[in-house]
Amino acid sequence: MVKQRTLKSITSAVGVGIHSGQKVELTLRPAPVDTGIVFRRVDLCPPVDIPVGVMSVSDTRMATTISPGGDPGGPKVQTIEHLLSACAGLGLDNLYVDINADEVPVLDGSAASFVFLLQSAGIALQDAPKRFLKVKKSVEVRQGEGKKLMWAKLEPHHGYTLSFEIEFDNPAVAATGSRFVFDMGSGAYKKEIARARTFGMTADIDLMRSRGLTLGGSMDNAIVVDDYKVLNADGLRYDDEFVKHKILDAIGDMHVAGMPLLAAYTSFKGGHALNNKLLRALLADPEAYEIVSFDDERAAPKGFAELAPAW
Ligand SMILES: [Zn+2]
Repeated sequence: MVKQRTLKSITSAVGVGIHSGQKVELTLRPAPVDTGIVFRRVDLCPPVDIPVGVMSVSDTRMATTISPGGDPGGPKVQTIEHLLSACAGLGLDNLYVDINADEVPVLDGSAASFVFLLQSAGIALQDAPKRFLKVKKSVEVRQGEGKKLMWAKLEPHHGYTLSFEIEFDNPAVAATGSRFVFDMGSGAYKKEIARARTFGMTADIDLMRSRGLTLGGSMDNAIVVDDYKVLNADGLRYDDEFVKHKILDAIGDMHVAGMPLLAAYTSFKGGHALNNKLLRALLADPEAYEIVSFDDERAAPKGFAELAPAW
C-alpha cells in the first residue's frame, strides 16, 4: 500500500514574513491519518484552526492566503505556498503548523529551508492509504488576451508532471531559460526545484513598498532584478531559477488540494490566482476527477511509493 506520511517529531523555525515584515515563529508537528495540513493561529485567543483546502484560499494577489471557509474577512495565514511546496516535494499528507502571526516566514525565499526542517524532523509512514487527486478530464482556465494572456491546464496523466513557461519583459529574466518541465516522480524535487528563490523587479518593489507590501523582502530572501541584471552579489542558484520558482509555487498552490495530483499540469505565465481557479474548475466538475489510492505499490506511478528518498 502507498501510505500517508507525517513528521516523526516536532520542529520549529523563526523568520520574517516577506510581505508583513513581521517576526514569526512556526512549529511543525506530526498529525494523525486523514488530518491533512492544518494551520493553527496560536497567537489568537482561542487559537483558530485553518485547514488547508481548495476552498480555504481567500486571497491570491501577492501570495496564496487561506482563511477558515475562504472568508477574506476571517483570520488568515498568508504566503503558504513555499511550505506547501516542500510538503508536496516530500510527500507529506498530515501536518499541524502552529504559527504566531498571519504570515509564514519567508526564510531564504525558496522551499529549501522548509525541506531541511521537515527532513530534520523525519518523515513517518502511517498506516492508512495515501490519497491522490486523479484528473480524468482536461480542465483549462484562461485570463486576459494578447500580450496579457495567461492560462493553466490539467490533463489526465498516470504520474504528476508540471510544465511552466514564463515571459517577462525584462532582459535579465528573458536571458534565462523560460520553460521547464518537472516530473514529481523523478525524486529530484530537492535538487532541481526546492532551492529556486522568489524574485522581484526593483520598479515593482518600490511600488509595493509604498503600499506596505514586501516589507520583509531583501536580497537575503529574494532575487532582485533591475532593468538589465540580477543585483544579488552571488547571482542565480540555477541558470533558469525564475521559471523553476514558478514551478515551485505551482507545486505549493496545487498542494492546497491536500493530496498529490495525478495529472499533467501546464501553465503559460500563470500565478497563484490562476492556479487556484484551475483547482476550483476541476472540483466543480465531478466527472473531471476522482480520489484514488494504491493498495499495490506497483500500480502507483513510478517514483510515488518511494518519493523523496532522502530521510
Ligand atoms: Zn513563490
